[in-house]
Amino acid sequence: MYRQKMIVGNWKMNKTTADALVLIRDIAATVGKRTDVDVVVCPPFTALEGASRVLEGTAVKLGAQNMHPELNGAFTGEVSAPMLRELFVTHVILGHSERRAYFGETDAFVNQKVLTAIKNQLRPILCVGETLAEREAGATLRVVQTQVERGLEGVGRETAGGIVVAYEPVWAIGTGKVATAAQAQEVHAFIRSLLVKLLGEAVAQRARILYGGSMKPANAAELLGQGDIDGGLIGGASLEARSFCDLIQAAGAAK
Ligand code: PEP
Repeated sequence: MYRQKMIVGNWKMNKTTADALVLIRDIAATVGKRTDVDVVVCPPFTALEGASRVLEGTAVKLGAQNMHPELNGAFTGEVSAPMLRELFVTHVILGHSERRAYFGETDAFVNQKVLTAIKNQLRPILCVGETLAEREAGATLRVVQTQVERGLEGVGRETAGGIVVAYEPVWAIGTGKVATAAQAQEVHAFIRSLLVKLLGEAVAQRARILYGGSMKPANAAELLGQGDIDGGLIGGASLEARSFCDLIQAAGAAK
């Protein structure tokens, strides 16, 4: 089944609004008209409003890096789904390993966010992945299975259409160590089989499963050439227009 490739830039806590707008303009100028790859940029919250203005009329979509599951209330420092929607945000990264590791996010909390995102017409990008210790202990598939099953608990087949899962081995994020194409493909195929069980064949075949972890133009073609790798969630290489656009080019060229 044909699935259009997707490249998502996760800028993390980088770029002031002024710097962010320079980068967004560069990206929009280079790939803003491309419709053969789904491109999503996820700047910090502070740059979303400005980014949304620059991206108006382009094919580049806007994503947030996180979101609170409640719609409003006494949650100091947090941002809700309606706040994101008002800025024309369409995607939201949920359960990134940095949120799990540094902010104590559990599968149950990530699941609440996934459900809220879907109810509010935001497409969740659910991040899963094992640590190095878990991989060395042979627990990769078990860890990923738990994160996928718990993260998607209560998601109905009829609403799961735009679901995106990002497989990000923790040991590959920001380390320069990239999973081999075979290692990544094995886990991606496993995730797709889980999606078949949870959400049915049709949703699973349409779902995009992205790879994340030190993906760069130099290693992208081999990863993106695997049958179940439908794109990339890109950290470091998304902070510079050239490398990010080269990755989009690689995704467009991948079969
Ligand atoms: C990420 O944090 O989602 C990521 C994949 O980072 P990097 O590309 O820098 O490894």
